[in-house]
Amino acid sequence: MQYNKVTPEFIAQLEKIVPGKVHTGSDINEDFYRDEMPIYGSNPPEVVVDGTTTEDIAAIAKLCYENNIPIIPRGAGTGLTGASVAIHGGVMIDMQKMNKILEYDEDNFVVRVQPGVLLHDLAEDALGRGLLYPPDPGEKFATLGGNVSTNAGGMRAVKYGCTRDYVRAMTVVLPTGEIIKLGATVSKTSTGYSLLNLMIGSEGTLGIITELTLKVIPAPKETISLIIPYENLDDCIATVPLLMKNRLNPQAVEFMEREIVLASERFIGRETFPKQIGGVEVGAYLLVTFDGDDFDQLNDLVEKAAEVVLEEGAIDVLVADSPAKKRDAWAARSSFLEAIEAETKWLDECDVVVPVTKIAEYLKYVKSTEERYCFKIKSFGHAGDGNLHIYACGDDTVDEATFKKDVEVFMKDIYAKAAEMGGLISGEHGIGHGKMDYLADFSGAAQMRLMEGIKHVFDPKMILNPGKICYKVQ
Ligand SMILES: Cc1cc2nc3c(=O)[nH]c(=O)nc-3n(C[C@H](O)[C@H](O)[C@H](O)COP(=O)(O)OP(=O)(O)OC[C@H]3O[C@@H](n4cnc5c(N)ncnc54)[C@H](O)[C@@H]3O)c2cc1C
Repeated sequence: MQYNKVTPEFIAQLEKIVPGKVHTGSDINEDFYRDEMPIYGSNPPEVVVDGTTTEDIAAIAKLCYENNIPIIPRGAGTGLTGASVAIHGGVMIDMQKMNKILEYDEDNFVVRVQPGVLLHDLAEDALGRGLLYPPDPGEKFATLGGNVSTNAGGMRAVKYGCTRDYVRAMTVVLPTGEIIKLGATVSKTSTGYSLLNLMIGSEGTLGIITELTLKVIPAPKETISLIIPYENLDDCIATVPLLMKNRLNPQAVEFMEREIVLASERFIGRETFPKQIGGVEVGAYLLVTFDGDDFDQLNDLVEKAAEVVLEEGAIDVLVADSPAKKRDAWAARSSFLEAIEAETKWLDECDVVVPVTKIAEYLKYVKSTEERYCFKIKSFGHAGDGNLHIYACGDDTVDEATFKKDVEVFMKDIYAKAAEMGGLISGEHGIGHGKMDYLADFSGAAQMRLMEGIKHVFDPKMILNPGKICYKVQ
């Protein structure tokens, strides 16, 4: 596929559609060259256009379509797979300026938003009305359009599900410039192929989302978090299914190894997690949150949970019941990625999801391979749903080429292991550019043929965010 380059005449046509919103050359901030995982590449878009309205974006898409020029939607650029990088140049649409919360329909429990609204802003605004928008990915300053396009997961997925479960309707601009409306403010549908669900998680490769209708729920009145220390990761992971079996229904269950907690506490400059209890060195932790409307009921849950985990090998149970204690415990968890980044020169990550009962066995395998490679392996993740974040961390004694060569072998191996254990390549970050080869290996020819066929139907000239998920530009 050969794309055309942007010309001065083309830029003049863009200026006619959105005067004063077209940026080129040194006017483009370098942040737009990459996302939060620069190892998957960095490339300047030829033009960045501020997203304004559905109609303007449709006119821009039509212009790109007629001129055979790539067009790439971008949210806040917090993605971890290179999905929003303009690897083939073209026109990037910056969706961040479409950031209005348009309207709540509190009787139907939905909210209509523009796609550039930040997760943090919707979450806060909804809470102010006694409502909860349940998806809770770690990065609160991502856009909702980005969250929907990656089907972002996060901490509360174990109880409430992922972003997909909260999308009721959307407006989409197709790469041809056509505008379609998918879904409705209803909770059931059996109305043909679900194009709405196809759009969710499509990483800007099928259409540009210009409006969203999202489900909200009544916010639980109380939450309590527990820090549960264990001597080792095996004991720690073994108790996770017991929390479910005992119907304790936690809102979040995160696991973390000692090393990553130490790095995070160094990063934020505050110690919250115990390191030694009664002479026993702590090797791993669970951070568990329960929510509900009644504090006494929550206390009962906490007591029951403490009983269950202490019987199965936890060293202690620390209750974070005040806002300050909860904030401190979750601040450490929220800083894991930044803490790793701060201490690492070369970084790559894997976001596999495996059955909860396989987490310990899987991580033990992953760790056992460390000595073969030129990097250290660090991991943490969502223990409640088996979604693991595994980081290959290279220091400055290794060069980029060697790091990348080793990482490729490592990733192939651990993805194959995840598949063998009944897992999937990505639980929440997506495929983007960085994981394309692994997706092809994992899915096999028939599934890849279907994915490429779907891409072709939505995007006949393959101009929308090319080089991502299933479509490699030859
Ligand atoms: C510290 C940190 C913690 C994180 N924690 C989590 C986590 O817990 N769970 C999780 O799931 N992710 C997590 N992420 C990853 C990231 O925040 C998510 O992938 C997020 O959904 C990306 O949103 P964004 O607005 O930054 O999108 P971008 O990175 O800008 O784009 C992501 C993809 O969405 C597409 N896109 C964006 N907007 C639109 C639109 N309007 N229409 C069509 N396509 C669009 C882009 O083309 C691209 O393919 C984390 C990232 C960081 C840096």
